[in-house]
Parts: sequence; structure tokens; C-alpha cells
Amino acid sequence: MSKVIPAPAPTQEPPKTVEPVACRGRMIVREERHAGYQPENHEWRAWLCERDAKCKLIGKDPMTLPLDVLTASGHPSARTSAVIFRLRVAHGVATGEARGDSFLGLQPEDLPKRLTAIRETICLACTGENNLNAWEVRRCAVYDCPAWPFRMGHNPHNPQRGVNRFQKAVSPAEPCRQRFQTGGAAAPGTDLAPPCQTGTGQSASAPARQLASAPAASSTPTASDQEPEHG
Ligand code: SF4
Repeated sequence: MSKVIPAPAPTQEPPKTVEPVACRGRMIVREERHAGYQPENHEWRAWLCERDAKCKLIGKDPMTLPLDVLTASGHPSARTSAVIFRLRVAHGVATGEARGDSFLGLQPEDLPKRLTAIRETICLACTGENNLNAWEVRRCAVYDCPAWPFRMGHNPHNPQRGVNRFQKAVSPAEPCRQRFQTGGAAAPGTDLAPPCQTGTGQSASAPARQLASAPAASSTPTASDQEPEHG
């Protein structure tokens, strides 16, 4: 795994908002090289891509990009059908200009029904036939591809982005667990009483209820208090 050099934050003003992308770039002649493909949202390259240790252009993780950058750079929030339509445009299927790949050989019934399925159905097939190119999908720098923001198997426009439901579910019991592990002493840095003492107490476990009914710890540290914590 090659080391990725964090790209410096773009210093110039953000470019203008572009239309939703569909690989509608054009070939241009560069001064120092032969003609090359210029994506339709090429002004946003510094926001969407970075360079690895070999100075190769790689795409950023879309889940780390601000939503306004994604939206303005041609990757707005969209339905699955709209993304599929733009993919059909990109592959020349919708315009009758299929470029031989026939949309990766997919039949209409095989097309993804969810945005989070685009990675499995489209991107892994795009980078190879054996579906072992997850790292290539992660590095994909075709930032004018409609599937680009969904290539990690997530929808970056999901309102639940960044919310860990399981973390919220276990956090109320955390003070009880720490108190149980430390033998009744409050965990370092936690001055709050555990919910099993402040709430109804019906949901507290048996050890936690025993700890709640135990006499308050004296000012003299006991042997258990002086034992070092493990793990
Ligand atoms: S985002 Fe990249 S890997 Fe996915 S379909 Fe487009 S070009 Fe292929």
C-alpha cells in the first residue's frame, strides 16, 4: 500500500458550480504534452483529488469531502435512477453511441437499485473482471464519473453520514461498565454518576445494583484502589 501525501487545502476561491457530471469532457491540446482528456469539472480537481508518493493522481475519499463541494463539483444528491441515467450517458448507451463495452455487459435487470450497490455492481466491474480491485476503486481519479462519489459503497449525501448509531446505543452504560471494572471507584476523568444511580435503576445489571447500594468509598484508598489497572 503506497503512502498517500495529503494534498494541501486549495487556497483559491472555489470554482463555479457545474452541472451533474456524466463524463462529458473533451480532448484538449496541452502545451507540454500531447492531447489529453479534460473532464467537464476539471476546475474542481484540487478539491476532489490528491497525489500519492509517486505523484500519481488519486481520488479522495468522498466521505471526507464537504457536501457543498460535492454538490458544486457535479456530484449532487440524486436518486439512483438519475445516477444510472448519467452512467448510461457516460457509456454512450442513452445516446445510441455505445462504446463497445455495452455498459459493462450489464443487463437492465442487473443495474443497481440502490446508490450503495453501485460499488459492487459498477465500480468493481469497471476496474477488472475478478472483483479484486477494491484498492483501485478507492484510488479512482475519474472524478467526472457519475459513480465516483458512491464508489466506496456509501452515499455521502446520506443525512445519517457520520452518525454512529451503535455508539449512541452503548454510551449510557459506559460509566457503569467502567465502575465495575475499577472495583467501585469512579473511572478517572468521569465525575458523573452512572445512569443506574441517577435513573430508575430498573435497567441496571446486578453488579451495577450492588455497587450502587455499597457504602461510599472512604477517603483512605483501599488495596483495590491501589492496584494498577490492566487493559
Ligand atoms: S467511479 Fe471510477 S471505478 Fe467507479 S465506475 Fe466510475 S470510473 Fe469506474
